[in-house]
Amino acid sequence: MKICVVGSGYVGLVTGTCLAEFGMTVTGVDKDAAKIAALQRGEIPIYEPGLEELVEKNMKQGRLSFTTDLAPAIREARGVFIAVGTPPLPDGRADLSFVRQVAELIGDNLNGYKVVINKSTVPVGTGQMVETVVRERSGGDHEFAVVSNPEFLREGSAIEDFMHPDRVVVGAKTQRAVDVVLEMYAPLKAAGVPFVISNVESAEMIKYASNGFLATKISFINEVAELCERVGADVDVVARGMGLDNRIGPKFLHPGPGFGGSCFPKDTLAVAQIAEEHGMSFELIDAVLSVNERIKRRMIPKIEEAMGGVAGKTIALLGLAFKGDTDDMRESPTIPIVEGLIAHGATVRAFDPAAMEVARGLLPESVVYCDDTYETARGADCLVIATEWNQFRALEFDRLLELLKTPLVVDLRNLYEPARVAAAGFRYVSVGRSEAGA
Ligand code: NAD
Repeated sequence: MKICVVGSGYVGLVTGTCLAEFGMTVTGVDKDAAKIAALQRGEIPIYEPGLEELVEKNMKQGRLSFTTDLAPAIREARGVFIAVGTPPLPDGRADLSFVRQVAELIGDNLNGYKVVINKSTVPVGTGQMVETVVRERSGGDHEFAVVSNPEFLREGSAIEDFMHPDRVVVGAKTQRAVDVVLEMYAPLKAAGVPFVISNVESAEMIKYASNGFLATKISFINEVAELCERVGADVDVVARGMGLDNRIGPKFLHPGPGFGGSCFPKDTLAVAQIAEEHGMSFELIDAVLSVNERIKRRMIPKIEEAMGGVAGKTIALLGLAFKGDTDDMRESPTIPIVEGLIAHGATVRAFDPAAMEVARGLLPESVVYCDDTYETARGADCLVIATEWNQFRALEFDRLLELLKTPLVVDLRNLYEPARVAAAGFRYVSVGRSEAGA
């Protein structure tokens, strides 16, 4: 089956590449000419483990190609995925202008039965909007269907998540459209992955409700961590004790500096906005949003307190991306943290294995970017771990002890056992646990 994927960002590129791996013939489209030129040369514009090899393999085998020319790609395809961005508008609603543009172009180029599959995260009712736009622009000459197939992949493990999802959600009006989508996902069906088949509205809601719930779980444990600090409990033990309860589960119970990234902040904001548009105040989601803002800001006094003030001092910051294994800086908690520390007079030296290029455009100009962990630490008054990259889980503390001016580690991700870092000669401050070391 020929497939066109419009939007070659994190979701579109991974979707197109994995569907090519499933045997489909895929054309990836993007309006960003530089991105497409890079992809045509086999260069991957994003950091995503395993993606480069899979793109190269499928391009070589002739099942994956890239173009900026949307019209022929749509005309040839049976299935057209919409995987463009839906960033937040100033009032929190999802900006659907990219989705609408693509729907218009699909309508202009409709030349036979096609299934338009929406993978972007969109508010309930968007499927209906896409259907109306395609019908208007195509003049009603051809049949088509609009399907909602929300994506749940996580950056950093996107290939694994796409190939082994917990479930695939397909929202459609007709069995004919469902069957086309099931054909694309045949290897997943064969592997026993559960499929949730619903109407379009429920499928759209599943995505927002899932992200809203996960964001709630993160904010919940972040507030529990804060309380643990006050009462002398250890949040890691508390989270383990909670997570072993099957009704709760252990995932998303890791405290940290607040959630960020391209999904949770914008999707929770959108849920609140959708509720408001429908005359309801989603109180829990409103609370999650304000808790997350507070948690991010709480990290600044936490570091200041540990250092006895930051004015005139140097901080070595490990990790800038919103989480490990990605170069994504969108809504990264490190942005307000770095801004706050610099505003209070600190010098920030920073290192991230993948996100520094992107970070340069987002962080204050005075940030000093370093080539590795140890160069970052040289002469600093404190080492702050802000992102859970694996390489920060295996720090050489002997070296750090020599390089840092003050043996102080503030770990915003709880990557270490406090006693271990203390035994290496450091004062160790983490989240939701008692301080360790001298
Ligand atoms: P992205 O910004 O990385 O990629 C979007 C791409 O679409 C860009 O390359 C952009 O140039 C392209 N584009 C925009 N308008 C276009 C047009 N008219 N024609 C062709 N290309 C166009 O975004 P993303 O992270 O891949 O997210 C896409 C959607 O998937 C969003 O709705 C997001 O919420 C959702 N989502 C993202 C993730 C994630 O982890 N990133 C996970 C699940 C769902």
